[in-house]
Amino acid sequence: MANDPAPTDSPAPASSPSELSTTDSTLPHRVDVLVVGVGFGGLAALHRLREDHSDLDVLAIERAEGAGGVWRENDYPGAACDVPTSLYSLSFAPNPDWSHTYGRQAEIHDYLVRVAADHADRIRYRCAMTAAFWDAEHAEWIVTTDTGIVRCTYLVAAPGALSAPGEPTVPGADEFAGTSFHSARWDHSQDLTGRRVAIVGTGASAVQIVPEIVDRVGQLTVFQRTPAWVVPRVDRTIGELERSVYRRIPAIHRLVRLLVWAYREIYVVLMARRPRLLPVASALGRAQLRLQVRDRALRRRLTPDYTIGCKGMLLTNKWFPALQRPNVAVTGALTALTEHGAVDDAGVEHPIDTVVWATGFTPTEPPIARVIRGRTGQTLAETWNGSPNAYRGTSIHGFPNLFLFYGPNTNLGHSSIVLMLEPQAAYVSATIGHLQTHGRSTVEVTAQAQRDYNSGLDTELAGTVWNAGGCSSWYIDASGRNSVMWPTYTRTYRRLMSQFEPADHLLDTAPPPTPLVVTETDRTQVDLGEVDRTDTDRTEVSG
Ligand SMILES: Cc1cc2nc3c(=O)[nH]c(=O)nc-3n(C[C@H](O)[C@H](O)[C@H](O)COP(=O)(O)OP(=O)(O)OC[C@H]3O[C@@H](n4cnc5c(N)ncnc54)[C@H](O)[C@@H]3O)c2cc1C
Repeated sequence: MANDPAPTDSPAPASSPSELSTTDSTLPHRVDVLVVGVGFGGLAALHRLREDHSDLDVLAIERAEGAGGVWRENDYPGAACDVPTSLYSLSFAPNPDWSHTYGRQAEIHDYLVRVAADHADRIRYRCAMTAAFWDAEHAEWIVTTDTGIVRCTYLVAAPGALSAPGEPTVPGADEFAGTSFHSARWDHSQDLTGRRVAIVGTGASAVQIVPEIVDRVGQLTVFQRTPAWVVPRVDRTIGELERSVYRRIPAIHRLVRLLVWAYREIYVVLMARRPRLLPVASALGRAQLRLQVRDRALRRRLTPDYTIGCKGMLLTNKWFPALQRPNVAVTGALTALTEHGAVDDAGVEHPIDTVVWATGFTPTEPPIARVIRGRTGQTLAETWNGSPNAYRGTSIHGFPNLFLFYGPNTNLGHSSIVLMLEPQAAYVSATIGHLQTHGRSTVEVTAQAQRDYNSGLDTELAGTVWNAGGCSSWYIDASGRNSVMWPTYTRTYRRLMSQFEPADHLLDTAPPPTPLVVTETDRTQVDLGEVDRTDTDRTEVSG
């Protein structure tokens, strides 16, 4: 796809992929595909599109100074993967050098930085997308960033589902005289030695953080709203001998990945869909609790009252022992902060110097949804109205040529998200390939296809442990719908995404041009200047 000529007052367009060089920090005027975000998802898209479509200009932008996504941001003490790392890598970039069964944050981050280095000529760091508008007249996206404006035919949004920290607003937060930060924004300048620390939340991050800091801090108060199911983590160091076998005989490394994948696939069905394994898993969880916690009152406090698997199960052997250290107290939910303390749900105030919010993320309210405006001028967030849904977790009616990665109903409880992101990359490639073959350039999923797809998902999800397990979890959105989980095998998703289905889409049927709506909010996010419609050939947003 050729680039359009640029107006004379705009930066020169990149006319061929080679013009987008590493030393060039400016944005090209126009690209064929713009990828937003350089984590696993953005890298999967970059790789796949460059492999399959060397004729396309593909550019990725990333708001941070480097690659890695959540693995750059979540560098809290003890941060590590929760699925075996043999599955947690991109299929085109195998890594035989993981140090443990469950890789550690620093090495996953290093891995992603290395993969990104192969695409350095196609990535602009420190460049945040601030808004995107569908320009129906020219059938392209106008993307505003904090360093300029770029137009693209296809917009691949890979901002991650777990990249926006969720920090509850609690009464008294303004009065609190101590320090506080979210686990995903760990403040390494704070020395916690001897301090009175509150950990708010008992999810996946909290169970990794507490055992790492418990010996350093003075007093640790764990604010628990709901106890989690905790099962043993079978982790081990991967020795140099084993790693060298993987390095020298990649087929063995691939076989190990295949075996881990297969066992995890069976697991999801027996856990979530036909829950024959649930009694075994909960017996394991209860046994670990009984063995590790002798005190009956504490054991009762740590025993969940919902079906195992309803929320993410936590894999750790260190959580219960850490909670029994003499300087640790487990209390109820945090209800308020005071000048020097935190109040639990029994009204007891605990003296606190530092609050760590281990309160997770906001996957059902992704910030990017508030700034992407589709064909009608509505944002994605307005379209979803609190309940995200998409066709194949990727396409949304009213948003032509947009592909959202790690979108609604693509999260997993049993396996690696990378196994969902790579099929999404394959799907974008297949879709663009179909359009090129048929001489089209615009694609939009029909409302009916999207509805049918989601009602199928709802039926599949209805009986799963996530919907029927008796817990409240971040999988269920404000409308009560499970808009987060993928209900079945990753293999099913891969198959689904391997082909574009023309009957479900409108091709090249861009509706009549709609006015380009630039709201005051958008103007303050980036200095857009005036929308100039004097050019009869193109709609320009001049800066
Ligand atoms: C602590 C933690 C542990 C996890 N553990 C596991 C695990 O064990 N197994 C598993 O499968 N999954 C795990 N996940 C889920 C994880 O999010 C995915 O596995 C995967 O990393 C998602 O990759 P991504 O590229 O979609 O998103 P991210 O890694 O979130 O990357 C998105 C990138 O987009 C950038 N971005 C966002 N908005 C903009 C914008 N407007 N402009 C420019 N750039 C933008 C962000 O800066 C970020 O770099 C974990 C998540 C967290 C937070």
